[in-house]
Amino acid sequence: MTAPITRELLSAYVDDALGETEIARIEQALRDSDVIRQQLTLMLRDRDRGEHSVGAIWRRNRLSCPSRQQVGSFLLGVLEDDAHDYIQFHMQTIGCAYCLANLADLQAQHQAGADDQAKQRRKRLFQSSAGLLPADKKKK
Ligand SMILES: [Zn+2]
Repeated sequence: MTAPITRELLSAYVDDALGETEIARIEQALRDSDVIRQQLTLMLRDRDRGEHSVGAIWRRNRLSCPSRQQVGSFLLGVLEDDAHDYIQFHMQTIGCAYCLANLADLQAQHQAGADDQAKQRRKRLFQSSAGLLPADKKKK
């Protein structure tokens, strides 16, 4: 499991061609190791020379994007400081259209959920107070 992280592996990572375990391992290595980060930077630079297709650029840009799940956690404010700062930077400073769209979508969903909860609360409140009415009437 602790095979060295090769350039080929990083390349596969960028191409989104790895399984979750490998992705997690590489992302951990990228966080922990300057050498690996440098390796990735160099590899991307090399690719830049060869690849200028829209697909390649899209892939490259999306590399730094947080997952939808992370964006959701960001929205809820439950991320660790580092991750939160990173996503904030990604959204506000880089202004990534993809992630901003994702955020807006999640925000709308979240709002709809909050509305539902408020409706449920009002319904329960109504039902419990409605339940008191017959008892009041019997007293009269
Ligand atoms: Zn993004």
